Amino acid sequence: MNPKVCILIIEDDKSICSFITAALTGNGYRATSAHTGKEGLNLAASICPDVILLDLGLPDIDGCEVLSRLRRWCSTPIIIISARTREQDKVTALDLGADDYITKPFGTEELMARIRTSLRHSHRTVPHKIYKAGSLEINFEKRMTYVDGEEIHLTQIEYQLLSLLAENSGRVLTYKFIMKTIWGPYVDGNNQILRVNMANIRHKIETNPAQPQYVFTEIGLGYRMRENENA
Ligand code: CA
Repeated sequence: MNPKVCILIIEDDKSICSFITAALTGNGYRATSAHTGKEGLNLAASICPDVILLDLGLPDIDGCEVLSRLRRWCSTPIIIISARTREQDKVTALDLGADDYITKPFGTEELMARIRTSLRHSHRTVPHKIYKAGSLEINFEKRMTYVDGEEIHLTQIEYQLLSLLAENSGRVLTYKFIMKTIWGPYVDGNNQILRVNMANIRHKIETNPAQPQYVFTEIGLGYRMRENENA
């Protein structure tokens, strides 16, 4: 683990803060914490952290407001850690530019896995040429998809959708984000076209589409593709 990787925790609950700090330092990270939104914004600007963990319920400024202020100038991965479990809160945070969302209470292993995924995405300067997980392989240069070495025929939309998820593997992409990316900014809010395409993709790539191994549904939020083993 790189000891220089610095993580900023913006969280007003001091016991959660010290739990996270202990977990982070135990895993070789450097951790700094802020207990208010204002302090968090100032620290983010002064220490330039590699990842920011942000609580939504802060005493001075709402976490969503902190998030949108950060996103005006900062591309650092931001993982929301919140007690808010409503789907709409998660969707709002992800659409405001959060990279991921963890609901309290959470385990150390889950938090570390999310941090590693965020770091891998932010440190990547060259796009992947190949996505590989289990028997599924996508060659982005050739725009070809294979299962068990056999070429799978996808429509253009299906390929765009699958490769968008594969390029962002390990992260949840919201329905709104996917709809806008694939169908453009003027698409209506109806996700039916997305669901139909996803069902078709699953029939083509999954052994059992009812129990997917590659593209997972995050209920009420969007989709998350299994981590690229070729990364
Ligand atoms: Ca709080």
